[in-house]
Amino acid sequence: MHIVKLDDDLRLVILEKVGIYSARFSIDAPTVLLSSREVLALPRELTEGRRTTAYKYYGVSYLTQNIVFINVRKIPDEKTLENTIVHELVHMRFPYLSHGRRFNKLVRRGLAGKGFAAYRSRKPAAPAN
Ligand SMILES: [Zn+2]
Repeated sequence: MHIVKLDDDLRLVILEKVGIYSARFSIDAPTVLLSSREVLALPRELTEGRRTTAYKYYGVSYLTQNIVFINVRKIPDEKTLENTIVHELVHMRFPYLSHGRRFNKLVRRGLAGKGFAAYRSRKPAAPAN
């Protein structure tokens, strides 16, 4: 069974979930796109790399732009929706991690309600003046 169409209620539910998980992950809540139309409406440089192919995925993270696409139309049920939100936010909080066991474990912990301290880059800060 597919989730009901993307209406204002569902939009609000998703934004709330993104807000809650973002707080737990100590990240700035990303801009959220909920249809491939919204992806295509953005300037090309913001969605580079996954633009015309975004519709194929449950979700896409545009890390450097702090934008997340949740492909509501493709997502089959609420569990997958929740999972997709957390998956994309794990990308945001752990930008150095690629898919794999550790990544999946973090998704499971996120879904279980665990919080994470803010991400700090391990690279030395650039000189400032
Ligand atoms: Zn991913």
